Amino acid sequence: PRLANQIAAGEVVERPASVVKELVENAIDAGSRRIEVELEAGGTRLIRVRDDGCGIGEEDLPLALSRHATSKIASLDDLEGVASLGFRGEALASISSVSRLELVANVDDDPRSGWRVVAEGRQMEPRVTPAPHPRGTSLTVRDLFFNTPARRKFLRTEKTEYGHVEEAFRRLALSRFDIAWVLRHNQKTVHQLPASPDAAARERRISALLGKGFLDNALHLDLEAGNLRLWGWVGLPTHSRAQADQQYFFVNGRVVRDRLVAHAIRQAYRDVLFHGRHPVFVLYLEVDPTVVDVNVHPTKHEVRFRDGRMVHDFLFSSLHRALAEARPGEQGD
Ligand code: ADP
Ligand code: MG
Repeated sequence: PRLANQIAAGEVVERPASVVKELVENAIDAGSRRIEVELEAGGTRLIRVRDDGCGIGEEDLPLALSRHATSKIASLDDLEGVASLGFRGEALASISSVSRLELVANVDDDPRSGWRVVAEGRQMEPRVTPAPHPRGTSLTVRDLFFNTPARRKFLRTEKTEYGHVEEAFRRLALSRFDIAWVLRHNQKTVHQLPASPDAAARERRISALLGKGFLDNALHLDLEAGNLRLWGWVGLPTHSRAQADQQYFFVNGRVVRDRLVAHAIRQAYRDVLFHGRHPVFVLYLEVDPTVVDVNVHPTKHEVRFRDGRMVHDFLFSSLHRALAEARPGEQGD
């Protein structure tokens, strides 16, 4: 099974950023209020994700590293409208097969209790030993791809890998304002983001993650129709940092790249004279979870709407209206 894991690892583990995404999604699923991500050498030497979630019990620790062991689907019905981010039970098995992994967790409020398990590539040490840890989980991944040179060769420079991790972190931190986040790289704190329950705090987080200029020329919107709600920020054409890469779209808290969504936004932009501009946006679409299937593909951020036409029209008309009202020159600037 370890060999199967290494093959499967290619699916979810491409680079440090994909490891961070999987570990953080687990931390979110565990109900964490605070998540810390720590890296060394762009994540190639070390990735550590610490959370204050539900933890993992002593008996479940070795299970967490074995393939297809997931605690997240009680029945097949759960696959419909699944709320948790991961349910395949493959990520930890895959990651541990290509790294040196240490898992320490505690389900107790007593910080003196806790358990630890380690795995090194194909060698998993099944021994679970006591290790004190505050309630929650710490997962450390060292020397990614140390035993798979062919894969290691595909890693880029530290700086490039770090850039991918930071982008993954940005998406995750934008997806959950109710969670406090920390990002550290080579002992330096890059982001320290408190939980942001109100509008002002959310805007502070946006500025911290996307640069102060982002909000200066952005329009805030919040529109609802039926059981659809769209809220967030859209850059106006005067936006100084209009770059294609500042496009964040979340469906029920999950980052999504979708042709239908991109099309609706582009159309609205184009119609309201923003010719030749890349739209920049951080937008949140909230829909009834039964009208959307977010887990079409485990890593590709795809989404399938049951009624795509309706979603497209809602996005287009909401944005069109909001942008037209804010058209520069017509509001006295
Ligand atoms: P999946 O997330 O698809 O269930 P993973 O391989 O990512 O599979 O994780 C395996 C299991 O380990 C999870 O189902 C969960 O029970 C447990 N687990 C992993 N990370 C955490 C965490 N940070 N907190 C609590 N439990 C965790
Ligand atoms: Mg997972």
